[in-house]
Amino acid sequence: MRRPRYIDPFQPAEIRRLVGEFGSPLLILDCERVRVQLRKLKKALPRVDLHYALKPLPHPAVVATVLAEGASLDLATSGEVHLARRLGVDPARCIHTHPIKRPADIANALEFGVRLFVADNPDEVRKFAHLTDRAELLLRVSFRNPGAMVDLSRKFGCDPEDLLELARLAADLGVRVSGLSFHVGSQVRDAARHVEAVNACMKLMRAARRERLGSFDVLDIGGGFPIDYAQPVQDIGRFCAPLRAALAPLPRRVRVIAEPGRYIAGPAAIGVATVMGRARREGHWWYYLDDGLYGAWSGQLFDHARYPVEPLRDAAERLPSVLAGPTCDSIDVIAENLMLPQLKVGDLVVGRAMGAYTWACATEFNFFPKPTVVAVNRRPGDAGGVMSVGECAA
Ligand SMILES: *Cc1c(COP(=O)(O)O)cnc(C)c1O
Repeated sequence: MRRPRYIDPFQPAEIRRLVGEFGSPLLILDCERVRVQLRKLKKALPRVDLHYALKPLPHPAVVATVLAEGASLDLATSGEVHLARRLGVDPARCIHTHPIKRPADIANALEFGVRLFVADNPDEVRKFAHLTDRAELLLRVSFRNPGAMVDLSRKFGCDPEDLLELARLAADLGVRVSGLSFHVGSQVRDAARHVEAVNACMKLMRAARRERLGSFDVLDIGGGFPIDYAQPVQDIGRFCAPLRAALAPLPRRVRVIAEPGRYIAGPAAIGVATVMGRARREGHWWYYLDDGLYGAWSGQLFDHARYPVEPLRDAAERLPSVLAGPTCDSIDVIAENLMLPQLKVGDLVVGRAMGAYTWACATEFNFFPKPTVVAVNRRPGDAGGVMSVGECAA
């Protein structure tokens, strides 16, 4: 079968064509860019098994593309398990990493066939006491990271000092522990915390093995890999160099896992919105778009991200402008103090790097619908490829 020629869906002509076909607002997802991100991360961390964390963009096209590239999945909720099941994913390629689960979440994941789970406290370990032949655990350790845009070690994770005690409890209950995991935070500036965490985990794993508390031959280094927004970051090869060095002394039998989310999905999608009205207020042009902070741009609130934004129209003269979302709420402003060409009703505005934590956390406040996801450059053979272009995970 011949592969169709690659058409870059982020080019203006293609953006206009897709809006013409699917309407506005859109989230244009380029599966080829998903592949590129996966390959770059794989090259930067050659000995690490990549499990895409669905949370930032739980869309079937991303899942299918990730699997076709040979990577695996990191599931965290019953909804994500359901999506994986619906797409016919092999459960052996899935891990479940939510540290706090309802009994039904555990049951759903087990029934699907997931085996490896995460726990970070005694009560959660006890939930597996009657499942010793069906499940294994990673114990999640917390390493605080005040430098990350999102510090995930405040809410989850066992203090390193309490880890051996937790591992002893698991051993007493007959719960198998295969290793440790951590997640130092999302969109981190450099890999210093990852490196500290790897070193600390290596010590803990040695100590736990000495006490025969489990096999401790899996180390899950979580996500956090950064991407360019308005602020550029180190390229992934440089970012991962110290991490590669930290992982090098690990014995070969230790399987290393990472759970990248943002790095895979973020650069793979753009948001497209249409100017639905405009007004001049106090010397500024206000443009009201059909997507905003309650929609795909919600990441500016929840995820503290700043997406590079530009209209498709260009002109030499630029005027002080404000881009606002469609809802009746005054906080629904995407960007102020921009210098933009004068826009007209119907003009398109594009946000870059909008794949992660955007559509996934969008609301439909005021009944403004979330953007439609249009997945392009899918491959017919990919799992889940039966779904038509534009279909959403919901
Ligand atoms: C959110 C999350 C991820 C993905 O993090 P990114 O920073 O987007 O790579 C991975 N693992 C767990 C447990 C998470 O909660």
